[in-house]
Amino acid sequence: MTAWTGEDRRTAPVVIRKANGIGYPHENPHDRDTVGVLWARRPLRQGAGRPRYGHVHPQRQRRAMHRLLCQICAMPAYEDEHGTLFLLEDHRNVPGWPEDEVTAHPPLCLRCAAMSPRWCPHLRRTGAVAVQVKHPDIDGVHGLRYQPDGPLAVPDKPVTVPYDDPAVPWVLAAHLTRVLRGCTVVEPEEFAARFTP
Ligand SMILES: [Zn+2]
Repeated sequence: MTAWTGEDRRTAPVVIRKANGIGYPHENPHDRDTVGVLWARRPLRQGAGRPRYGHVHPQRQRRAMHRLLCQICAMPAYEDEHGTLFLLEDHRNVPGWPEDEVTAHPPLCLRCAAMSPRWCPHLRRTGAVAVQVKHPDIDGVHGLRYQPDGPLAVPDKPVTVPYDDPAVPWVLAAHLTRVLRGCTVVEPEEFAARFTP
């Protein structure tokens, strides 16, 4: 899912105002998802140059999230009767968390989940906890919201919106999100015992 330096764009694509929302001057069928939301364009050259850890490639993120593939190795994520395995920033101090949490982080396979806090700087800093989710439903997108400015569209701010939000035609999507329902938190000290046969 990580973006590579060989996938950087030399020039940003032009985003224009259309009848109700944003678009590209010349769109191809891959520019929009099945709901009709516009997606950020990025060349697909995985392995070209150096990996840009912490930078997510929009199309690979969308594929992993849509198909519930491991965000690191792209194999099917771990799943059993308790649900699909996600790794989330640890907010166990918040009552009710993580039920109904919206996440842009695809799930993981067991092997990558066991390893990832060790080398992912973001997770090491914030603390991570494994959560199994019975109903991780596709919810919407995270991306950059534009606003109309005469005949043009200008960037406003990053947003996370569900697909039924009236603002979604104005968002240039970079991540697909899921809402997590039916969650079971795996306490860190139980992780090894629980997932070792
Ligand atoms: Zn994996």
